[in-house]
Amino acid sequence: MRRKRFVCPECGQKTGIPIAYGYPSRGLIKKAKRNEVLLGGCVVEIDAPNRHCQNCKHQWIDDEKSVRSTS
Ligand SMILES: [Zn+2]
Repeated sequence: MRRKRFVCPECGQKTGIPIAYGYPSRGLIKKAKRNEVLLGGCVVEIDAPNRHCQNCKHQWIDDEKSVRSTS
């Protein structure tokens, strides 16, 4: 399994992790404990950020692998 890290637009570090919304599965909770994902809670907000930077705590919206698929 490969870990996903995203480049933070704020600090430029590759310390961005995905934010997962909705009720977390057991696997997701494990990932959260390993700081591979941030649990955003059960309430899915419109235009909520889906990336979280572990370096500077910046949160942003990344269109890549978005929930709303355009294809
Ligand atoms: Zn950052």
